[in-house]
Amino acid sequence: MSKLPHVGTTIFTVMSKLAGDTGAINLSQGFPNFPVDEKLTSILQKKATENVHQYMPMPGMPELREKIARLIHENYGREISSENELLVTAGGTQAIFTAIMALIETDDEVIVLDPSYDCYDPAILLAGGSPKHVGLNREYRPDWEAIKVACNPNTRMIITNNPHNPSGRMWTSSDFGALEKLMNQYENMLWLSDEVYEFIAFEQKHISAHERSTYLNRTLTCSSFGKTFHITGWKMGYLTAPKKLMEEVKKVHQFNVFSVNSVAQACLSEYLDIVQFNDLGRFYQDKRDLFASLMQSSRFQLLPCDGTYFQLADYSDISMENDVEFCKRLATEYGVAAIPVSVFNENKEDRKHIRFCFAKDNDTLIKATEKLCKI
Ligand code: PMP
Repeated sequence: MSKLPHVGTTIFTVMSKLAGDTGAINLSQGFPNFPVDEKLTSILQKKATENVHQYMPMPGMPELREKIARLIHENYGREISSENELLVTAGGTQAIFTAIMALIETDDEVIVLDPSYDCYDPAILLAGGSPKHVGLNREYRPDWEAIKVACNPNTRMIITNNPHNPSGRMWTSSDFGALEKLMNQYENMLWLSDEVYEFIAFEQKHISAHERSTYLNRTLTCSSFGKTFHITGWKMGYLTAPKKLMEEVKKVHQFNVFSVNSVAQACLSEYLDIVQFNDLGRFYQDKRDLFASLMQSSRFQLLPCDGTYFQLADYSDISMENDVEFCKRLATEYGVAAIPVSVFNENKEDRKHIRFCFAKDNDTLIKATEKLCKI
């Protein structure tokens, strides 16, 4: 008996292993391969000698929570209670899992927009809920008509991801209006807004649920320091929720992790005083543009990318084989690992799109695109 009979080895593990076995350049998994800010590593060295090695308070280090509240205020103009509405988590994944475990009950329905990040479904299923997958439209934007059709009085939550992995698309103002109408119609419906790529936005500024939700009493957001500071391995992030819901979330958190890594919390608290966020979008925009210019002579068609560090590419001019098979051949025959987008779809819809991660040093991007242009 398995509680998650359909969960096997993820495509990320498969592709990274294939990259390791074949020596392919790994543009599959979403993590940076360049050094972390030296200011952060020197804080880490200093903190190692300080008294920061014991349990932190359950919801997180108070100074860190205050600084996160300040960050939210500075960026989105929202006043949030660091005491009652914020939880420091072991990455976005634990924020999402804990929120779902605390708030989803047996037979609750949860709307998930495909292609979707792979941690939502297992959490919903373990909580006894039932995921309802609705496809994004051809441009990877929410299809509000289809979402409306999927909603009913049992819909307890909608999970959205903006900026979006894997497509790199971002919401526009009208998306917030459409969701507001739905939340108005379904008074029980909660909104979990996964914004782990919030600071990786290019031409257009990221619009957050913090600033646009008219139903903040039913809105939760999750963020990831891993994405923002190039430290995915630290597994640090945070969740926001209104006090009443957060009380329930904390009940789960306290027996799941109790409190997250103390040294990492102390480091991030100090780092938040000195770090510049405004550079991050520019930094990745330059990488996106470099990747696109290097790919110009290839037979891949790059899709629009508004944010995140992912670039989708259409390979239908090269091959009509299934995207999983194409990615395997890309790694073994051409030496570059990518992720097939169909694995993010519950119905495995295959649009002949694959995902490249451009959070890599320029040398890696140059070498990878040289190979891709030969196909
Ligand atoms: N949501 C999305 C859309 C992601 O892409 C990721 C990480 N790949 C997460 C959540 C989880 O973030 P973390 O690594 O902080 O757990």
